[in-house]
Amino acid sequence: MIEVKDLCKRYEGRMVLDGISASFGPGEVVALVGPSGGGKSTLLRCLNGLEPFDAGTIRVGDDVLVPGASRASGAGVSNIRRRVGFVFQQWHLFAHRTALGNVIEAPRHVRGLDARSATELGRALLAKVGLSHREQAYPSELSGGEQQRVAIARALAMEPEALLLDEPTSALDPERVGELVALLSRLREDGLTLVAVTHEMRFARELASRVMVLHGGRILEEGPPAQVLERPRHERTRTFLGLAR
Ligand code: ATP
Ligand code: MG
Repeated sequence: MIEVKDLCKRYEGRMVLDGISASFGPGEVVALVGPSGGGKSTLLRCLNGLEPFDAGTIRVGDDVLVPGASRASGAGVSNIRRRVGFVFQQWHLFAHRTALGNVIEAPRHVRGLDARSATELGRALLAKVGLSHREQAYPSELSGGEQQRVAIARALAMEPEALLLDEPTSALDPERVGELVALLSRLREDGLTLVAVTHEMRFARELASRVMVLHGGRILEEGPPAQVLERPRHERTRTFLGLAR
């Protein structure tokens, strides 16, 4: 469970997150949507300690992030990084390691598993994302969708409670989007909390249990996809969705 309370963040004096309070529970899939510059990526980065903030708290179980906690400092940050995985938009795979090598890196060196256990875990995770047959391939030999699945397997190798994904569909064709929805649905059934920033409303509609609209650093509205996407309460959401009359 991730609990955010009164989160505020400024860049160069400008408020980009303006009092965000929200919670993200196990087995829940939250789609973060909203116009460009609304603060979606910033919120996601704050949620796992990649970005310091100015006010409020972020709590993951008994680990708490407070204002000023930054990239490298404090037990809170490293615990939260372990509990909350992040799949970057550009995946950031290690180019000189195979798919399996990418997945076992953190179990070996962060969790301290021996080579054999890490390899076993890595193989199981690659199977889970449907890439058993590509475990010896290097990132440059994988398609974009496959690289993304390696990045997801790599994040899962830390056994996180939650996974954050920033625009996971942006580089995928429609068929790959369908596969990603299927994969993420399986992870949700395992009880993982998923928070995904997306510009694809079909993705949000098919996968999310809750849609959260972020605008100007605030949560404009939130609710089940059918409500927010079909019958939004706010004019600004209607405009964003192209429903404005
Ligand atoms: P998009 O849909 O375009 O990805 P977003 O909702 O993810 O947008 P953010 O990237 O969170 O938006 O940015 C929120 C605001 O913070 C924007 O006005 C952006 O210009 C500003 N911002 C983001 N990163 C920085 C930074 N490192 N320094 C200064 N301002 C920043
Ligand atoms: Mg963004």
